[in-house]
Amino acid sequence: MGRRDFIGALARAGVLNFRPSRVASRRRAGESNGWQGENHLNNVIIIGSGCAGLTAAIYAGRANLKPVVIDGYEPGGQLSLTTMVENFPGFPDGILGPDLIENMRKQALRFGAEFKSGAITDVDLSKRPFKITAGNDTYETLSLIIAAGATARLMGLESERKLIGYGVSTCATCDGYFFRGKDIAVVGGGDSAMEEANFLSRFASKVYLVHRRKEFRASKIMVDRARANEKIQFVTPVVVEDISDVSKGGVEYMTLRNTETNQTSKLDVEGIFIAIGHVPNTKVFAGKLDMDENGYLITHHGSRTKIPGVFAAGDVQDHHYKQAVTAAGSGCMAAIDAE
Ligand code: NAP
Repeated sequence: MGRRDFIGALARAGVLNFRPSRVASRRRAGESNGWQGENHLNNVIIIGSGCAGLTAAIYAGRANLKPVVIDGYEPGGQLSLTTMVENFPGFPDGILGPDLIENMRKQALRFGAEFKSGAITDVDLSKRPFKITAGNDTYETLSLIIAAGATARLMGLESERKLIGYGVSTCATCDGYFFRGKDIAVVGGGDSAMEEANFLSRFASKVYLVHRRKEFRASKIMVDRARANEKIQFVTPVVVEDISDVSKGGVEYMTLRNTETNQTSKLDVEGIFIAIGHVPNTKVFAGKLDMDENGYLITHHGSRTKIPGVFAAGDVQDHHYKQAVTAAGSGCMAAIDAE
């Protein structure tokens, strides 16, 4: 795993508190049109440049609101970390996630959106204009659309945290290539785990699908596809107790406990991909906006939060549907509400 990928993996897992280098590398000439952003009173600032944020930018741009989009930790959001998207309407043969995001970004630029890199460190929503701080940069805005998405969840093991970037990853599309010809494991039982296991089987010699229950949250078509893949072996119902060997700075095996028999066993793998869902990126709004017990922002009447002028869209407020198309739909709603 190269340094850049390693840093990216740490940042994606929330271990590091700075932007991965790909944020800067995605900035392109002509993405700023000079009359928005810092030291100006903006009409609308959009936090996050995933599917929800970019759709909000397209709509707000077409409403002549000159939106400013602040990229955040993961520019492009989760779609930029995925492979083929088969269920976004309008693409009968599917479209690669990064291509879909790139198209949306171009579309937003075309209607006058301005993109700024930076991760939000503070917000003052006590009065209008709202103040948004991203490191050393401060922005003022009449309305705010929060589309900050969600970040990969970890299991919470000390060894897992220490080995992120040294064999433990949260992004199959970013790091799969490093595990050519190796035995690896994917942890999780949702669509992401199935998709990642299938994707990783292109590189790995064997993929163990490790899940804590015998039932799967993933859709049947995704489970069936993984089951039909002869490189994928399901290991259930087990919880991961530990990952070894931290002292050697790499993954050699994982210790699993069967939840029915309580017996522990070792599974030899050189890489582990964690695909157990995401945590909403809402820390900065704690105490300022209403959230549910898992930290998702609570919206009402479309995209409205409890503060007039502050709207939320996409995975940051959706713990149920979590689809690209629903995120796009809620981004559209937020822009119309802001208008
Ligand atoms: P998810 O559906 O929430 O599934 C998370 C999985 O991780 C569950 O199986 C859960 O187990 C397990 N898990 C959670 N915490 C765990 C822990 N601490 N230790 C071990 N296992 C744990 O998340 P997702 O798979 O990322 O999918 C998110 C959304 O995106 C879903 O709506 C999904 O449909 C969508 N998606 C769609 C596609 C597609 O259609 N191509 C691809 C990817 C994702 P339990 O089941 O036991 O709770």
